[in-house]
Amino acid sequence: MTADVIDGKAFAGALRGRIATLAADFTAQTGRKAGLAVVLVGEDPASQVYVRSKGKSTVEAGMASFEHRLPADTAEADLIALVNALNADPAVDGILVQLPLPGHLDEQTVIATINPDKDVDGFHVTNAGRLAVGQPGFVPCTPLGCLMLLKDRLGSLSGLDAVVIGRSNIVGKPMAQLLLAESCTVTIAHSRTKNLPDVVRRADIVVAAVGRPEMVKADWIKPGATVIDVGINRVAAADPGKTRLVGDVDYAGAAGVAGAITPVPGGVGPMTIAVLLRNTLVAAFRNSGIALADDAI
Ligand code: NAD
Repeated sequence: MTADVIDGKAFAGALRGRIATLAADFTAQTGRKAGLAVVLVGEDPASQVYVRSKGKSTVEAGMASFEHRLPADTAEADLIALVNALNADPAVDGILVQLPLPGHLDEQTVIATINPDKDVDGFHVTNAGRLAVGQPGFVPCTPLGCLMLLKDRLGSLSGLDAVVIGRSNIVGKPMAQLLLAESCTVTIAHSRTKNLPDVVRRADIVVAAVGRPEMVKADWIKPGATVIDVGINRVAAADPGKTRLVGDVDYAGAAGVAGAITPVPGGVGPMTIAVLLRNTLVAAFRNSGIALADDAI
């Protein structure tokens, strides 16, 4: 069997097209652009790349991007004051504080300051709670992107066995909640799970969010299963001095067994920013009191 490749780049491109159309509708109805504020503290090179890319994508979608860059030694009180100012700013629909924060800043304290209705990353405990009890809120971008790819591929997920490997607050746990809400039978595996290959072999859906290069092997995969690889790991390439990106799944091996699989890069990665734009636009409509159909984006 050779798995179908789930093309996250193409899916994300189409999603961004729908977002741009709706963002133009929003502007026509309100006379202003939906706005996303991104706060970056410090000089972390990867974070700088993400923030630049988020800003560019926001503008390309016809929305306003507000970037706030603060020095690495920013006091927590000053960061909280900025978040409060953004909470109060009617031009700002979504607020994202780029993680990780420098060590002297407490991430949970800062995230707890964001107005949950502007928390487009879905990291606030209020949004985690809303997801857990099935109320509308904001869902973290990466797992929501994975769910979109799964539903596009499989249609109904009801009754399927799903194994999520990884239990982080930003990927594993919300992914499991989303799959449970779709009536999957969900197992969350993690670093203490016994007999992980056997656990994964039961799964119709495997979501790998671990951060270990090519850990999930072909013989762990049930024939025909759908495999979503969230991992982004930089490893040495064959060319000396060069690097390449690989996922948490042994792609070449698993593609011979799975029914469908996301590549790395070009699978889950492009979905994250597209869903961030989606969440920002949903926030803009909600915060302006304009009804938006559940399936609009
Ligand atoms: P994390 O480090 O917070 O969590 C990793 C999880 O993996 C933990 O819950 C841990 O229990 C589990 N784990 C560790 N070793 C294990 C093992 N041997 N067996 C089973 N489980 C094990 O990581 P995260 O933030 O959830 O990210 C996971 C991966 O996803 C990383 O590679 C990250 O770069 C990637 N990621 C990608 C995107 C994207 O946009 N595509 C977004 C977020 C994270």
